Amino acid sequence: MATPTVRTEVSGAELAERDRRLIIHPYLPASTEERVVMVEGEGCRLRDADGREYLDATGGLWLAQIGHGRREIAAAAAAQMEQLEYFTSFWEFSNRPAIELAERLVGLSPAGQTHVYFTSGGSEGNEAAFKMSRYSHWRRGRKDRTWILARRFAYHGIGYGSGSATGFPIYHDGFGPTLPHVRHLTPPWPYREELFGGHDPTDFLISELEATIHDLGPENVAAFIGEPVMGVAGMIVPPEDYWPRVQDVLREHGILFILDEVVSAYGRIGEWFAAQHFGVEPDVIVTAKGITSGYAPLGAVLVTDEIADAVTSGDGFPMGFTYNGHPTSCAVALANLDVIEREDLLARARETGAYILDRMQELLSLPVVGEVRGVGMMHAVELVRDKTTREPLPMDAAPQDVIRRETGVIVRDCSHSLVISPPLTMSTDEADEVVEALGSVISRLDADGRLAPTT
Ligand code: PLP
Repeated sequence: MATPTVRTEVSGAELAERDRRLIIHPYLPASTEERVVMVEGEGCRLRDADGREYLDATGGLWLAQIGHGRREIAAAAAAQMEQLEYFTSFWEFSNRPAIELAERLVGLSPAGQTHVYFTSGGSEGNEAAFKMSRYSHWRRGRKDRTWILARRFAYHGIGYGSGSATGFPIYHDGFGPTLPHVRHLTPPWPYREELFGGHDPTDFLISELEATIHDLGPENVAAFIGEPVMGVAGMIVPPEDYWPRVQDVLREHGILFILDEVVSAYGRIGEWFAAQHFGVEPDVIVTAKGITSGYAPLGAVLVTDEIADAVTSGDGFPMGFTYNGHPTSCAVALANLDVIEREDLLARARETGAYILDRMQELLSLPVVGEVRGVGMMHAVELVRDKTTREPLPMDAAPQDVIRRETGVIVRDCSHSLVISPPLTMSTDEADEVVEALGSVISRLDADGRLAPTT
């Protein structure tokens, strides 16, 4: 990274002290003293307030497709702000960047999506997807179609609808009652073969899906939601035949198919949408994150004509967010898509992703590595006590934090996996640095998850 251009007048220690007094961070215990106050980014590199450099192997929260510090995105935001920073998109009001972005997304859409509903992020997108699903059935007189099918270990966000579809107890315990009429099914996690009772995973999952629909009554089921690759569960790539077979069952029963592409869209897995990679045509595609690479908050829900017609009939769709179609965010998204297209980042994600997966195979020789997996630029190393029993490795040593402190490479833990999702622009040299950083710490973990000191 070049010489820092943004300098803080205060030390990292002072900022950390003020942060501890003031800010409630997601998932951070009050007892944790450490803070990493980022001040600058360029490409895949970040710098904190003490001047320490990091390599961003997570793309922030899995979204920095084009990398950090692109001046042209800042210029696009500034130009839009100078002209019209914000106005509402409620009622008949609209703005040019929102219209242009909607046209662009409909053009890229893999499954005949014709309309776009803008949000500020992924949770809002899934709230909208659920409401549109139920409401479009309701408008057509199918008033009992209220059930939503999701999967255990799914992550769909933290609203009350999206959070209820999310399939981890931690997001439900203490927050209940959650949204009724949500049923969780088994995740398509081939490595965890114990989930499938000795059957072929897809056969098992399709039987379970059919039995669940039968149990609830198809006339009561509104929609099925799934992440194409389950991110927070640990970058779980389903068997190839899973999505097409799920789609067939849903179609047979008139159940809407929502694909949660909040992470996977806009090049993350080497296509504009994961639907293209898996060969499916969902009714609703929920996107966010990579749509702006994080330069501004934005989400976009892409729907078919049929759904758009149903929800906009009568008095129109009674659900709006203040920031629907935010002009500055939409201008940023357009500039971001330009970069993805111009630099052919879809091909780059496929190539660098394959390189990373290949390099990660080396980690399989380490005693606590059960599986390495990934697609595009989403990868995981699943850690186990024992390769035969596949019992998850205790993560008390917080290897992700050790990796950051010792090597400056930022990776993330998801349950007992370490995951990465770097900017799509990452070089192979940087990818080598990431894999080496992972290996340098994972190789010191014993079967109880204890970390040996460096020698
Ligand atoms: N859906 C998926 C698949 C996600 O991974 C996330 C966030 O990581 C969300 C939804 C929620 O998005 P947001 O945090 O923007 O609300």
